[in-house]
Amino acid sequence: MNIHEYQAKELLEKYGVAVPKGIAAMSVDEAVKAAESMDTDLYVVKAQIHAGGRGAGYFTNDPSGKGGVRLCKTIDEVRDAAEAMMGKVLVTKQTGPEGKEVQRLYVTDGVDIEKEYYCSVVLDRALSRVTFMVSTEGGMDIEDVAENSPEKIVKVSVDTATGISGFHARKLAFGLGLKGAQVKSAVKFFSNLYLAFIDLDASIVEINPMVLVGDEMMALDAKMNFDPNALYRQKEVFAMRDESEEDENEKLASDNELSYVRLDGDIGCMVNGAGLAMATMDIIKLHGGEPANFLDVGGGATPERVTTAFKIILSDPSVKGILVNIFGGIMKCDIIAMGVIAAAKEVNLSVPLVVRLEGTNVEKGKELMAASGLPIISADSLGDAAIKVVEATKKSQEAA
Ligand code: GDP
Ligand code: MN
Repeated sequence: MNIHEYQAKELLEKYGVAVPKGIAAMSVDEAVKAAESMDTDLYVVKAQIHAGGRGAGYFTNDPSGKGGVRLCKTIDEVRDAAEAMMGKVLVTKQTGPEGKEVQRLYVTDGVDIEKEYYCSVVLDRALSRVTFMVSTEGGMDIEDVAENSPEKIVKVSVDTATGISGFHARKLAFGLGLKGAQVKSAVKFFSNLYLAFIDLDASIVEINPMVLVGDEMMALDAKMNFDPNALYRQKEVFAMRDESEEDENEKLASDNELSYVRLDGDIGCMVNGAGLAMATMDIIKLHGGEPANFLDVGGGATPERVTTAFKIILSDPSVKGILVNIFGGIMKCDIIAMGVIAAAKEVNLSVPLVVRLEGTNVEKGKELMAASGLPIISADSLGDAAIKVVEATKKSQEAA
């Protein structure tokens, strides 16, 4: 689960991580009021969306081309910036071309930056440790730094059994070339960041940029993601969920215990089991197709779930063919076939549907589909299914 920058900073501040003063605003008037309550000569108005790259982004229908992070010298400028952002669509490298509508703003007390750095904390699954990555290349995409100048990234891994020690934090600080009082402030920053990461069940914390203001290390931006399996014990974090930021279908899927991720292709996939779902996507690609989604209906693929899954897949206008690949174990193939038939009838299926069933009662399942009168293309193996769906999808693309 994702949260907004202002929420992440609110959490981090509780753990002693320094952040600039800021106030969240749900309207232009609130943003102006927030600025009026600050005793400063530099304000920053920041669009709050679940995507980064706001500063370098742009608003659709805004010829000024200005982004979602604006420095303002007066209250009037704050009002203008807030008006230009609130309710408008911001496009960044991370939103995709459709962008995201801005519904919340964050007004911060602008700070005088000495230098910008990069800092992230991630779970390193290979090492079973928590890894810090820092770099002197603040404000840049870490992927680009890793590609062009990997020597500028300093990594330190922490064993969670013993936790963070002074030497871990000092290694990071020295890696950034910090001196004297800066080291002391950075050590405190990294140590507190680690505590927040562990205590809140975060899966990633990214501070880009982390900045020196005088000798004090601060988080100028903050992105946090959380382990969804731990949300039951993270009530405060869970309350920060902003459903308006979530993809409609991903929400519907999670409410129905389906794992769904939308992708760029045109072949909708419905599969049971995450491993089989991955293999299905791979084999579609192998035969020249592009999956439109990852969708795992889970072990208990009930007719209701199959119907919901169909609705989710079909609500994506780029889907031009569907492949159902289900292994009937806990749920028998004839039951699944009935579910597929009922769902196909209910949703008025308009694209070719290839079904590959395997497992208990597979013959009965195939008979039911053949007798259904629906244009279901039956397949015998994973390879056969992939070839058939790629071909049928191409034809339906051409006809469209
Ligand atoms: P992002 O573009 O979504 O990553 O948003 P950030 O919060 O990282 O802001 C983008 C950039 O705006 C930063 O890298 C800074 O250069 C600049 N910026 C943000 N806040 C301040 C501030 O308080 N003072 C100054 N001088 N620059 C700021
Ligand atoms: Mn940033």
